[in-house]
Amino acid sequence: MPASHKQFRSGERILESGIYRVVHRKHRLPHEVTLLRDQLFPRCIKCEDDVFFQLLRSAPDITLAPFKVALYALPVADEADEAESGFTVAS
Ligand SMILES: [Zn+2]
Repeated sequence: MPASHKQFRSGERILESGIYRVVHRKHRLPHEVTLLRDQLFPRCIKCEDDVFFQLLRSAPDITLAPFKVALYALPVADEADEAESGFTVAS
């Protein structure tokens, strides 16, 4: 891993808005999330365990967007868990 890819973890304050890569070994999560400065890195909503993040692309202008991303926990990307939680996809 390149030294420039500093890792952050759940509960730390986000110093830079941008796109972050999600690193979580226990199960699948979305690979990339958009996070805003001054919030805290979210933890996993499933196992409530720490998740690690690497800044892929900083996006300082994101705070000027008409919407605010308030992500306090990561959604689960695992298909089986989607069924468990009652999340269904119309077909
Ligand atoms: Zn998890």
